[in-house]
Parts: sequence; structure tokens; C-alpha cells
Amino acid sequence: MKSSEDLRRQLRDIDHRSYPAYKSLAGSYQFGSFLLVIDHVQGDPFASPSSLHVEILHKNAGFPAAFYETDCARIALQDHLTRQFSSQFEDYNFKAKGSGKSGLLAVTRCGQEVLERSACQIGRDRIIARFHVGFPAFGRTINAGELEKILFEFLPRCVENSFFYRKLDAKKTEAAIHLAEDQEAIRKLLREERLTAFVANGAILPRKSGVSDLPLQNSVPFRSPASMERTFVLPHRGTITGMAIPEGITLIVGGGYHGKSTLLEALQTGVYNHIAGDGREYVITEDTAVKLRAEDGRSIRNVDISMFINDLPNGKDTALFSTPDASGSTSQAAGVIENLESGSRLFLIDEDTSATNFMLRDDFMQQVISREKEPITPFLERARDLYEKAGVSTILVAGSSGAFFYIADKIVQMDCYRPVDITDHVKELCKEHKAPRTQAPNFRIPEFDRALPPFRKKSGGRDDRRRGGRPGRDEQPRHEHMKTKTFGKDSFSIDKETVDLRYVEQLADSEQTAALSCLLRFALEQVIDGRKTVQQTAELLMRTLDQKGWEPFCSSYVPCGLARPRIQELYACLNRFRG
Ligand code: ADP
Ligand code: MG
Repeated sequence: MKSSEDLRRQLRDIDHRSYPAYKSLAGSYQFGSFLLVIDHVQGDPFASPSSLHVEILHKNAGFPAAFYETDCARIALQDHLTRQFSSQFEDYNFKAKGSGKSGLLAVTRCGQEVLERSACQIGRDRIIARFHVGFPAFGRTINAGELEKILFEFLPRCVENSFFYRKLDAKKTEAAIHLAEDQEAIRKLLREERLTAFVANGAILPRKSGVSDLPLQNSVPFRSPASMERTFVLPHRGTITGMAIPEGITLIVGGGYHGKSTLLEALQTGVYNHIAGDGREYVITEDTAVKLRAEDGRSIRNVDISMFINDLPNGKDTALFSTPDASGSTSQAAGVIENLESGSRLFLIDEDTSATNFMLRDDFMQQVISREKEPITPFLERARDLYEKAGVSTILVAGSSGAFFYIADKIVQMDCYRPVDITDHVKELCKEHKAPRTQAPNFRIPEFDRALPPFRKKSGGRDDRRRGGRPGRDEQPRHEHMKTKTFGKDSFSIDKETVDLRYVEQLADSEQTAALSCLLRFALEQVIDGRKTVQQTAELLMRTLDQKGWEPFCSSYVPCGLARPRIQELYACLNRFRG
């Protein structure tokens, strides 16, 4: 094992040489209380910054074992430490000077959700923290003195202030873990009590703006209608009271601008835990919940959507439906089936983002367009069976049609941002109106045995390496992975195929998108063989991630910048891949 002094000597040796000499620094160096590993050195000062990590043994870090013994506590602590490290870095970012990305010092910037990330991983005996450094240069000439400043002055201070328990505010650290444990407790209670979601009194649901996930100042705090109120006892906080939404079909109605979509959006991010101060700390949703929406233009492959769509005019088989360019209604139908397959137990639907003809058809229209001429059985006529026969509840925002009143178990009216339970009142009114047809025959849960077709690479492999025309330049024949590139949260490309995830609304972070690109690459290269089903593939990927961590999904080292997606988003990704 080399020491930090070895690194210092190496640095001084390569000073003023040309940039690629930095590559010689890759390796591990013992820095007293932590180990520094230089995983990957950038090719030039303008390229993506270099990847490094530090390892701190628990005996040096000193956190109480209870802080990382359970997954729930460990993930909360990892998140807390990453935020700590990130704020430490802020003081030193670009303090070292030079061209391009010289002096950059960066770790994940966490949002409002608490996610499991490659940025910080706590194992049995150590904490691993990954980050990026822009190795400094004048033009393309190594400026080793500046890197020495980063690695020997800035970094040890940041590491110490972030990963040594005695340096942290113990109360805050403990509070982050206790909050996560309370959130976990509510999630467990939801299952036990046959509830789908809980929104605590006092929760702040609206966000500052369409581009800021911070709470809206001076907004109306949430307050449950008395009839839906439940009080739970949590392990740390004590009692908490709020609105409990039971399993079944729940309708959220109300005038425009009264806060319907805001409530639904809070519920859809309630599958994740939120940090203290977010306002949605105690908005907890069944963790398999999926937002379903229309997604014109998406690709669909071999999905049995016959529950909703039959007898298409072009004669297409809807029991094995594929299209590179779905319509609003076919995309939403596929979404329902794919998420029965993904194991979702709760669908969240907003009429604002749904295909109207998929959701319902009114009486008059049914008279004019006979059933034989209409391929669509609307969601309205399947929702009860979805709950009663498939165990999937629905929370539906609907402001424009009364037909849904007939199938709802609970009806909540948003009135100036305040929920009111109007179930009994509306059920009385229902008696005075002619009921629409609310149940279609022949409900059948499809078989989920569709296999994923094997994938033929367009690039990568040996040919790519020979492209330089100098065979033998690479000393070791190395396995070349397919190329992936992530575009924020919205999409990634793999082997020149774009996977569009723009409308997969419950992706919370671009690091999840990056992780999905690694999972899909692994699936294409090592799992999908033309026989394994979508379900088998998704489950195998998640199991591998749980048991072996990020390593199997990365080339030579694990970078900072990956966050664990849910299995539902993995399904969404497998289902949207066109290759
Ligand atoms: P709807 O879906 O019923 O038409 P929205 O949920 O889109 O209404 O909300 C309309 C506006 O009201 C949004 O700008 C939102 O930020 C704001 N809003 C929502 N809930 C609250 C609240 N509790 N307090 C203050 N403003 C809110
Ligand atoms: Mg709305």
C-alpha cells in the first residue's frame, strides 16, 4: 500500500509535464485516518473530471452501530453524510485554479428525496464516499501544486468534517435517522391497516415553482377531514395524525385550481422518503404506487392490452400488442398492464394527463357510437375489477365527469386546498341519477410470460477498439461495454438507442436515470437471452443490485452519480427500450 507521501512525491515528479502524465496517479494511498483511491484520471482538463473515492473505517469514523445496522437507518445516514460532504465541498470548489475543469470538487447534490446512492455507501467495516475532482492544469500542462493543495489540504478537512461522528452535529444526524425510521413505520402500517397512503396534518404539499422542489412559502397546510383521520404512534416522534386513504378506489374532485393535482403529485413522490423541512416528510404512499398517464409516441412491445382495447380497425392483435408510436389510449392501456406486471398495488391517475377516451365514454356517445365500433373498454369499466380481482387500488383526480362517483369507495373534494370527505353526500345523489355502465365483462389478468428479445449491438466490442487502426495498442484485450449517455432525468442513450423516460414521473433524480442506463446495459449484455421474461429480468437485476451492489453494473470502477431506482421505474425502462 502506498502512503500519502508517495503520492506527494509522484505529484512533484510529474509537475509541468503534459496532462496524460496524471494517469500515473491512479491507485490507492493511505492518508492516516482514511484511504484515498484515485479510480479514474480524466484525459484532459476539459474532459469529465476524475473519479476518486475515500474509505473510512468505522473504527475511525465512530458512528454508533445502530445508525447503520438496518437498511432504513443506513440509507438515511448515507444520505445525511452525502449532504454534509457536498456542503463541505462548496467552500473549496474551484479554489484551486487552472484551465477547463481544473479545481472542480464535486459530489452528488441531493434533492428533497432520500435515495440510496453510489456517492456514499456504508458497509460492514467502512464508509466509502465517491466524488469528482478536476485535476488542475495551465493549458494542458500539469499543475501539480494545485492538486497537492486539493488532496492534502482541502480533502482531508472535508472528509473529517463529513465522516467523523465527533465532528458532526450529533442531534441532527440522529434526527435524520429517526425521521427515516418513522417514515418506514408509517409505510409498514399502511400495509397492515389496508391503506394506500397517509398525509399528515400540517404537511405542506405545493412546491415553490415548476422548477423548484422546495416547499411553497405561506401555503395552506394540509388538514384531514375528520372522517378520514387516523392517528398512529411512531417509534420516535410519538403520535401523528392525518388523512388515511383506504385501499379501493378513491376519487379526488373539486374545482379547477383547488389543489387536486398538487395532492396527487405529493402522493406520487410519497413512495420515497423526504428530508426534514420538505413539508412532505409524513406524506407516505404505498411504495409500489405508479403514476399512470398518456404517453403518445412511446414504444410498446408485446403487451396484452385486450382488457382495454379490442378489434382495432387495422386488425392488429391486441393480446400481443406492439407499436413504435403509441396513441394516448394505447399507451395508457399498456401502462396499466405493464404495472400489473411490475407488482404495483396502487395506480395514481390525473385526468389532466390522461387520454379521455381511455378513461370513460359517456352515455350519449355510447348511443351514437355502438359498442361494436368502439375498440376501447374505458378504465371506468375496469377499475372495480382491477381492485377486486387484481388487488390494485386507484387514486384518481377527476374534475369533469360524475361517472366515476359510481365506482368510488371514497370521494374527497379539494376545496380551497382543504380536503372534504363528500362520500356519503355524493352516494345519496347517485341514487337520483341514471347510473352509467361501470363494469365490462371478461376481465382477465394477462399472463406475464413475454420474453425480451435478444439485442444485437450496433457498436462497441472488438471492432471499436481497432478503429484507431493500430492493432495491439491496448495491451490487455479489455471487454468493451456498450456506450451510454444520460441526458438529465429525462432520457439516456445506449448503443445509439434513446430511452425516453420523460413521462416516467416518479423518477426523482437524474442519478436514477444514470443507474437505469447501467442496469439496462448489464441486462442487454448479460441477462437478456430471448427466453427470460421481463419479470425475470427485472427481478434478477434488482436482486443483483441488492446483493452485489453497483460493481457488476459498472466497467472498471463504481462512479459517484448513481441512485437506486425502484423496480417500477426499471420496468418502465425495459418497456420503453426500442432496441
Ligand atoms: P387543480 O389540479 O385542482 O386544478 P393544482 O393542484 O394544480 O389545482 O393547484 C393550483 C395552484 O394552487 C398551484 O399553483 C399550486 O401550487 C397551488 N396550491 C396547491 N395547493 C396549495 C396549498 N395548500 N396552499 C397554497 N397554494 C396551493
Ligand atoms: Mg390539475
